[in-house]
Amino acid sequence: MLDMNFDFPNPVRIVQRTARDFARQAVAPLVAGMEETGRFPKSLVPKMAEVGLLGLVTPRRYGGSELGFLARTVALQEIGRVSAAVACALQVHHMQAAAIQDWGTPAQKEKYLPRLCRGEFLGTVAVTEPTGGSDLLGMATTAVPAAGGYALNGSKCFITNAHLAGAPVVIAKTGEGSRGLSAFIVEKGTRGFAPGREERKMGLRGADTGELFFKNCRVPEQNLLGDEGEGMKAALKTIGEAGRPGMAAIALGILDAALDEAVKFSKSRNLYGKPISNIQAIQWSIADILVDLETSKLLCYRASWLKDQGREDCATAMTLAKLHATEAACRATRKALEIHGGCGAMLEFPVQRLWRDAMVCVSAGGTTEIGKIVLSRSVLA
Ligand SMILES: Cc1cc2nc3c(=O)[nH]c(=O)nc-3n(C[C@H](O)[C@H](O)[C@H](O)COP(=O)(O)OP(=O)(O)OC[C@H]3O[C@@H](n4cnc5c(N)ncnc54)[C@H](O)[C@@H]3O)c2cc1C
Repeated sequence: MLDMNFDFPNPVRIVQRTARDFARQAVAPLVAGMEETGRFPKSLVPKMAEVGLLGLVTPRRYGGSELGFLARTVALQEIGRVSAAVACALQVHHMQAAAIQDWGTPAQKEKYLPRLCRGEFLGTVAVTEPTGGSDLLGMATTAVPAAGGYALNGSKCFITNAHLAGAPVVIAKTGEGSRGLSAFIVEKGTRGFAPGREERKMGLRGADTGELFFKNCRVPEQNLLGDEGEGMKAALKTIGEAGRPGMAAIALGILDAALDEAVKFSKSRNLYGKPISNIQAIQWSIADILVDLETSKLLCYRASWLKDQGREDCATAMTLAKLHATEAACRATRKALEIHGGCGAMLEFPVQRLWRDAMVCVSAGGTTEIGKIVLSRSVLA
């Protein structure tokens, strides 16, 4: 008999409740400030550690809760419903934890995973360069052998948590072709390594996004993550199995919020003597938002569940979920914004923030076009 159960297991329900309460109590009061300053509130980091959000995908022996990717998706959705920017910081933090868990030596896991779970610093994975994020092999940052390790030269851009990360994972060229990239853990304070500009963004404003610079930066051999030449595999697995589902989950949160705002506004705005929720065109828009939310949920939860089952096909499912959910969030927030009429353009209505955040989620974690390439390959191969 086909076994299909759409109920969350109890531990996932508990994570959902915890994340929802955290988002309402600790995150919501900070949203207006983040919009104003474009800054991530550092005070949130120890609080996120305290409620277990930083260690959701990390094994218990390294200080995590080992609850897995479905629990993480649900947590990011709840945080993203209140602040997609905070959810973005958290999702990229999990990416570094996943990269070290998948590729790290026992010593690297002992050294970095507990610190990431405790929130001593946030995590990140730095791949993108000014030469183009979609073209991984076009990167220009090099790592050449030097006494006791490697010397890194080059720069990264658009890196989430760039100024908050204590020991980012950095991908650099050690050779040519797909075996010519390697991954490194570069500790803050290493000579020749410095974060650069903090970007000013139209959306996800409270997430820290910035540059990283490497100038003859000496990284010891024991900070090579995985074998030399495995950087491409490490980057693709980390982006595909942690980054894309993370952005997809944030899009789910934005979709939830878009529905909330559309329903609330349409019930409170009166035209022709009654709420506009009585107008059929408005009802159709609300139904469209609901369809986008529910289809995205199914794809995202299924992809995360596949990952938790250790299934090889999870990366394709995650690309599908990311592509659909982020595009759906753009459609739905535009509809929600239109339902608001002129109020949609006013900064005191959250719907405009949702629309801006949704637009930025499309490229973060890999663009829709790259997603389509991955998906079409999975059926044409
Ligand atoms: C908020 C935010 C946070 C981010 N965080 C991180 C991070 O933590 N770490 C990190 O490494 N990166 C991060 N990024 C970078 C992100 O991964 C890249 O922006 C993304 O991969 C696209 O790269 P790009 O911006 O250089 O666009 P480009 O690669 O220059 O692409 C430009 C356009 O060309 C299209 N295109 C490219 N190649 C093809 C093709 N073969 N066929 C069809 N169309 C194509 C793209 O889809 C896009 O529309 C972040 C970006 C944002 C906006």
